Amino acid sequence: MEAETALAELTGSSSDWLRRYGSSLMGVFGTPQRVLVRGSGCTVWDADGREYLDLLGGIAVNALGHAHPFLTSVISSQLATLGHVSNFFTSPTQVALAEKLLQLAGAPEGSKVFFANSGTEANEAAFKLARRNTGSVSPEGAVQRTRIIALDGAFHGRTLGALALTAKKAYRQPFEPLPGGVEHVPFGDVEALRAAVDDTVAAVFVEPIQGEAGVRPLPVGYLQAARDITAAAGALLIVDEVQTGIGRTGAWFASEGVLPDAMTLAKGLGGGFPVGALITFGDTASSLLSAGQHGTTFGGNPVATAASLATLHVIESTGLLEQVRDTGAHLRAALAAVPGVAEVRGEGLLIGFDLAEDSAPAAVSAALDAGFIINSTGPRTLRLAPPLILTRAQADSFVNALPGILATARSAGTTEGKS
Ligand SMILES: *Cc1c(COP(=O)(O)O)cnc(C)c1O
Repeated sequence: MEAETALAELTGSSSDWLRRYGSSLMGVFGTPQRVLVRGSGCTVWDADGREYLDLLGGIAVNALGHAHPFLTSVISSQLATLGHVSNFFTSPTQVALAEKLLQLAGAPEGSKVFFANSGTEANEAAFKLARRNTGSVSPEGAVQRTRIIALDGAFHGRTLGALALTAKKAYRQPFEPLPGGVEHVPFGDVEALRAAVDDTVAAVFVEPIQGEAGVRPLPVGYLQAARDITAAAGALLIVDEVQTGIGRTGAWFASEGVLPDAMTLAKGLGGGFPVGALITFGDTASSLLSAGQHGTTFGGNPVATAASLATLHVIESTGLLEQVRDTGAHLRAALAAVPGVAEVRGEGLLIGFDLAEDSAPAAVSAALDAGFIINSTGPRTLRLAPPLILTRAQADSFVNALPGILATARSAGTTEGKS
């Protein structure tokens, strides 16, 4: 059977698929907003033929949009050549991608890469790295550095180690006890960090911009202060660039200018193909995890690493970083001028904006009905993380529709309030 024939048999209306979803998929995501069947560039189509401008990009993942011809052909050709080999073996794409990431990150001699398949896995590896920064060990084998610091509002993933680093109570509490030793300090408060970090701390985890918390950038100077504080105490500075990395903010990495001990990447790295990475900077950090102390079956496989190489190549060769800075600045300025928008935050094409009232979830539905995919991270906060290839004209089409979307959302809120 031809591939097209096999896929074409999966026909049905959105309501059919949602009914089948409800009786076959675990309920952790609630009811999906739409059933999507096809994409091209920044546009996707649902099972009923309706078209949407994708301003979320699969949550900061689809850097090159949907069905990018070069990415598609690189993935297909790698899969047709060699798809998976296990980490008993390596492959040229794996080595080339590691080298490329080290080069882009300005990593010094001795820096290394570990490949995973997702953001949470990259952070699990970073968590284990942190645990190996033991400090002095007593004759009884007790380690000195038992504490790990993360920030209020932090999101680092859903597996148990990454969840221990994540701040949100609703995500954590049902799964306690979580791996111990993690403490959360107030967001953006240098003095609180300074007070918390001493020689009992193994690592400090930070996101340059907290994406899940509503696109909250660290205050200017915080990251450098965190670098100085951790360096003085012998703690690792671990930067979670899972959402902010790979061009999302108009730079390769949002932490550029500050050299961490480790960095985690995922989301945009594979252009939509699942891939995550932990980069360790310099010999000392890189030697903390030794042979046999960590592993993965899928991580760094030829297809995932080829997809990442292709993504990086397109970003670099088409001047996308500059385009992201331009389109992002234009979009943020335009959003700030829309009545009902109270505050706009972010960098490049990672944008959060607050509404004057608690109608963000209703705005997400109204936007979908108007043909735009956006996301709410809180009762009055909306997030945009579109493909990096978004054009000004596409950005403008959303800004022009936004007053109508907000009006619909407001009246939906009023109706709900009355019923
Ligand atoms: C999305 C995200 C993660 C988790 O990535 P997954 O691929 O969903 O496991 C971790 N850290 C940050 C900052 C993220 O935005």
